Amino acid sequence: MQTVIVGAGPTGITLAYLLARQGLEVTLIEATSLDRVFRGEGLMPSGLDALAQMGLLELLDHIPTQVIQRWEMIIEDCPIVQINEPDGLQTTIVPQPAFLKAVLGKAEQYPGFRFVQGSVQSLLYESERVAGVSVNQAGASQEIPADLVIGADGRGSTLRRLTNLHLQKRDYDSNLLWFRLPAPLPAAQRSVFYGFIRGSESLGAYSSWDSSLKLAYILPRDSAGGKSFDWKSVDWPARLAAIGPDWFTAHLQNHAAMLETPVLLNVVFGACPRWWQPGVLLLGDAAHPMAPIRAQGINLALRDVMVAANYLVPLLQANATASAIDAALPQIQAEREPEIQRAQQLQQHEQGQANLIAQTAILRWGLKRVAPAARPLISRRWLSRQRHLRYGLHPVRLHW
Ligand SMILES: Cc1cc2nc3c(=O)[nH]c(=O)nc-3n(C[C@H](O)[C@H](O)[C@H](O)COP(=O)(O)OP(=O)(O)OC[C@H]3O[C@@H](n4cnc5c(N)ncnc54)[C@H](O)[C@@H]3O)c2cc1C
Repeated sequence: MQTVIVGAGPTGITLAYLLARQGLEVTLIEATSLDRVFRGEGLMPSGLDALAQMGLLELLDHIPTQVIQRWEMIIEDCPIVQINEPDGLQTTIVPQPAFLKAVLGKAEQYPGFRFVQGSVQSLLYESERVAGVSVNQAGASQEIPADLVIGADGRGSTLRRLTNLHLQKRDYDSNLLWFRLPAPLPAAQRSVFYGFIRGSESLGAYSSWDSSLKLAYILPRDSAGGKSFDWKSVDWPARLAAIGPDWFTAHLQNHAAMLETPVLLNVVFGACPRWWQPGVLLLGDAAHPMAPIRAQGINLALRDVMVAANYLVPLLQANATASAIDAALPQIQAEREPEIQRAQQLQQHEQGQANLIAQTAILRWGLKRVAPAARPLISRRWLSRQRHLRYGLHPVRLHW
């Protein structure tokens, strides 16, 4: 039986590997280079656990990574949250291109695996069931038949559009400007994730796997007057420097010329009420695009993959009928949906709280007043609120 997976992001590539490892025929199709400029890179303990279960965690020993050991939230020079990462699997920054290529290398060891570089433009149908894809490769089109098509093609999913699977969007009123500053912080600060708020502006800052400083500036979608401001004409080194505490301001000022042009990342956030049609299943961001806050998308996608593999591998190995395969698709959605909904609620809540603090001067003032005495309590409560975001809603086990 042939499975076609569209999209070689974290969802598609790990599912392709798991199916190939079980002796199944799988074709993975990717439209762009695995080296594309931006891919999320924060893995939570739940994502690391998924990789361990898949036998892929050891790949991280051979690529550069950066473990986060401490979280600090600083409001206008006053530390509000200061807490170490708990023991056990620790949030880790992973270069996604290197990771994807390493998984691709593992998948290529299995005879049933095939990688096709090209863009899926349309679907093939047999008796109103999806029966394959048509791929555009450098202007030529190729038809690839399939017993099952997986849409792992991300938040702007073509398969979602082609199958008329509606995306119900959630409110999320900001995009992100993503900066890279190739000027490392002192070694002692490289394992800290910083959140800075000053006035109405918020900035996330962490040292990435290559020691460069990555900066995520929250860009409101609708600032005064209903229009986003013209971010391309902003003096960013000065603007970002002003948001952090003195040491951060000095670091940015000293390396202002090295600050790279930012990438604007449009956030798409929500979920499809239905993830499947006969012959096709959406997974990962295609089914439920995640917001960037608290690095959830890759982790949840990896857990989607384990659940999908649990249902699909026995069916595909047994050459199950099309209707038996189709009957498994809503079960996969049903098993994954509660965790996705919970994570999206928590992402909305986290973003709402950050917005509230940024928009309410009296709240910032109050937090700064109580921080010296209440910091340990605030920090512990903050971390305990992150439990489902770090470990998932419930355990997910890969069956084999
Ligand atoms: C600003 C931002 C920061 C983020 N940071 C993090 C983070 O730190 N940690 C985290 O866990 N999550 C993060 N996320 C979320 C995370 O990036 C996604 O949830 C995750 O990448 C989803 O994986 P995926 O494989 O489903 O989709 P994607 O990673 O989007 O992969 C989809 C793949 O499909 C390919 N494709 C698309 N269309 C076609 C087509 N027609 N034919 C063939 N191929 C196609 C694309 O080229 C792409 O390679 C972030 C998101 C944003 C917006």
